[in-house]
Amino acid sequence: MVWNEKFECMPREELSRWQGEKLHEMVERVYHNVPFYRQKMQELNVIPEDIQGVEDLKKLPFTTKQDLRDNYPYGLFAVPASEIVRVHASSGTTGKPTVVGYTRRDLTVWSEVVARTLTCAGIGKNDYIQVAYGYGLFTGGLGVHYGSEKVGATVIPISGGNTKKQLQLMHDFGSTALACTPSYALYLAEAMEEKGIDPAELKLKTGIFGAEPWTDNMRKTIEERLQVQAIDIYGLSEIIGPGVASECQKQNGLHINEDHFIPEIIDPATLEVLGEGEKGELVFTTVTKEGLPLLRYRTHDLTRLHYDQCACGRTLVRMEKCLGRSDDMLIIRGVNVFPSQIESVLLEMSETKPHYLLIVERKNNLDVLEVWVEVEDQFFSDEIKKLEKLSEKIKDNLQSTLGLSAKIKLVEPKTLERSEGKSQRVIDKRELS
Ligand SMILES: [Zn+2]
Repeated sequence: MVWNEKFECMPREELSRWQGEKLHEMVERVYHNVPFYRQKMQELNVIPEDIQGVEDLKKLPFTTKQDLRDNYPYGLFAVPASEIVRVHASSGTTGKPTVVGYTRRDLTVWSEVVARTLTCAGIGKNDYIQVAYGYGLFTGGLGVHYGSEKVGATVIPISGGNTKKQLQLMHDFGSTALACTPSYALYLAEAMEEKGIDPAELKLKTGIFGAEPWTDNMRKTIEERLQVQAIDIYGLSEIIGPGVASECQKQNGLHINEDHFIPEIIDPATLEVLGEGEKGELVFTTVTKEGLPLLRYRTHDLTRLHYDQCACGRTLVRMEKCLGRSDDMLIIRGVNVFPSQIESVLLEMSETKPHYLLIVERKNNLDVLEVWVEVEDQFFSDEIKKLEKLSEKIKDNLQSTLGLSAKIKLVEPKTLERSEGKSQRVIDKRELS
């Protein structure tokens, strides 16, 4: 099933033409309505007439999260306040949040792209979707909510948290689909096991999980423990929220809704545009947004793009599951380390849980990586000798994957903080000293 065959299965040439036209219109709008962009374009000696097709994208300036912060709260909006009908904001872990605004038409586009995401995952009007993403300023909850109503599914707007109630409603209301972060999905699976609920007794069949990076191993674990097909969805509030890209049931990369968001892959160091299949930072230009259109927004997510056609029939480009973030990357003693690599190693071992915490410190001018790992119940109750052996095994496995030796600290199950949203998995103390 495809939600919007015209755009999701459009021949590429036709799609490029559409993108070019929309891009030109959008650049006209921001040039005249957003002083920030007019100035940036003038600095680069570019006028809207220079932008006629997607091949001209590279002439345009980049936008960063810092630009949004510097223009807090509404400085980058391209329409008068009277046209804005909703605002959302990112969590803003450091300093002020980034604010995004939507016109009535933006909200229509948003539910359209989320409707595509849900259809991609096989969710339709006969489904009961439990939306366990947070409702509020975060775009996850309301974003998925309106898209779900658009496809005609029955929405259970429970929001995040309240795990006991989640399980009760999942059972009583017969939820067939679950929308939340992958780490919360895993937490729900654990809570279910604790309560002796067999997922086979539930009607759950699909999960749409996003808002944080997760590995294929994590997917396998969730699929087994919740007995669902776990679909990776991708979005960020700056671009629109959920609905930017989604896997189809072939689970072979995430289709980007390119008629609204044009992707590029750049080298994060040189900012040079990379070719198909090359790994780099994902950049988006929104060509249909009215409230907050963005030129070449740097996501810091690392991935690759594939243009060959997917078995599902969609022609939309596919991005690989995010391989990490250019700014989450830890450099430890010169080695590039992504938290997802460590997660992968832990998931391959039956003795450990995929809950971990990385602590990086600098001692005597040397970086030290300590990995806290939760151990499965039955192993933790074993004798010290066995635990020491396990610790060695983790150390060896990490060493061979990362090329780096780490100090391992085994902790009892449920010691590490569980998150109902995004998990904090890295404490880098080097920046504090
Ligand atoms: Zn597909």
